[in-house]
This record gives sequence, structure tokens and C-alpha cells, in this order.
Amino acid sequence: MKNPPKLVLFSDLDGTLLDHETYAWKPAQSALKRLAALRIPVVLTSSKTACEMKVLQDDMGLGHWPAIVENGAGVIGLPDANPVETYSDLRKALDRLPRELRQAFHGFGDMTVEEISTLTGLPKEAAQRAKARGYSEPGIWSGSDKALAKFTSALAEESLMAQHGGRFLTLSFGQTKADAMQTVIDALHAEITLALGDAPNDFAMLENADMGVIVANRHRPTPPLLRGEKEGRIIRTDAPGPAGWNDAVHGILDRLGFAEGQTLNG
Ligand SMILES: [Mg+2]
Repeated sequence: MKNPPKLVLFSDLDGTLLDHETYAWKPAQSALKRLAALRIPVVLTSSKTACEMKVLQDDMGLGHWPAIVENGAGVIGLPDANPVETYSDLRKALDRLPRELRQAFHGFGDMTVEEISTLTGLPKEAAQRAKARGYSEPGIWSGSDKALAKFTSALAEESLMAQHGGRFLTLSFGQTKADAMQTVIDALHAEITLALGDAPNDFAMLENADMGVIVANRHRPTPPLLRGEKEGRIIRTDAPGPAGWNDAVHGILDRLGFAEGQTLNG
């Protein structure tokens, strides 16, 4: 039999590989085991920091693969893949802004662990890991919309961009999830890519991959029809979270010709 193509899998975490409410991933264990036996890279992709990501990667036995952190602002596990500008460069640039603009932005770096814990609902230890930034700075904007426009153009002069995501305004040097994904594809010499996600911030990743899976999440509005969905390049799961993830990955591995129980050398 012809060898199946070199597949690399990208996956969102919350609501996708992790249950929306309990954060459990065990319902996806059988597909994860099959991927591990085939040595197919599983690249976790999320807004989490490297510190938060490493805890999860170790728990799932994925610590030897790269991961995309801070919404694409950084990649862990690929030493040469990261922007030359660091978090401390970002903080220095932020402090060079005019005082009235700077004061209206309260970033994680300006907050105590307790403040971050209150704001995010994370327990203190987890808040500590969320505060350990590598490449981007989430924060709260307390100024007017007009001042925000000035803030954004002052940031642009420092090569920084600001993105709204939920309640936070996140500053970064501009690398997106799609950029980070391309970096990983190149580094791992992927021939075919599979991406899984549940929310609008994953849809570009799903559309950019060769195959995409929208994992059902009953806590979110039904996603619109995505590019490639009519042609069957993107599918939707019936089961939510890790159970849907498990079904979809098994189905796709079967379709691509990876036999059940097959290992890389088997
Ligand atoms: Mg999600």
C-alpha cells in the first residue's frame, strides 16, 4: 500500500479538544493514541501562554511537538520560529507612548496576579501562568473610542498592533495564528494539514488547512457556512468538544488510509 501523506494536525483547545465546561480531554484519548502511534504531530493552537500550554501538552503527552501560543504571537518548540521582538520590547514600546494614552491601557504587566485572577476567574496559580507573557500583552482599555484610535496609531508607529478579543485588547507585533501555522507547516514539512476548532477565531485556520473540522459547541451560535464546506473539505461534528474531536480524527485517518492500529513502521 502507498504510504499516506505526511499529515500535521492543528487544534484549538477550549471547546474543541477541551470540554467547554469541564476542560476534560480524555474523550479524545483514543484518537490521540492513534496519532501518537503514527507519529503525526498534534500542534495545539490557542491564546494561552507558553507556561499554560506546557502544562497541557505534558498532560496530553504532546510535549515533543511545537505549539502556537498567544494567538499566534509565538511558537514554542521551534527555537528559530519566534519574532525577534520580545515581551520586554513590547512593554518598553508601550511605555514610550504619550502619557495620557499609556494611562488608559492597563495590561497584564501592570496588574498583580490577584487582579488577573479576579478579572479572568482563573485560580491564582493559573493566573500566574497567564501573566508569564512571551510575545503579547492583553489588557483593559479604559479610555474613549476617540483616544483608542490615537492609541492604535501611536502603537503602529512602534510596529505594534491592537486586537479586540472578548473583553481584552491584546497588543502584539502582529504575527497571526495563520502566520504561525505557516511557520510550523514549513518546519515540519507537512504535506497535508488538518485543523480543528469551534469558534470564529479558528475559522481562518480551518479555511487555510487542507481539511477542517468545526467541533460542535452548544454554548455558541451555529457557525456560518465556511469556505470549502460545500465541497466537503470542512466538516462538522455531531458530538461536542473532545468526543466530536475523537470521532472526526478517527474518520479522517481512516479516509486518508491510515489503518487502525498501524504504527509508523507497521
Ligand atoms: Mg475554542
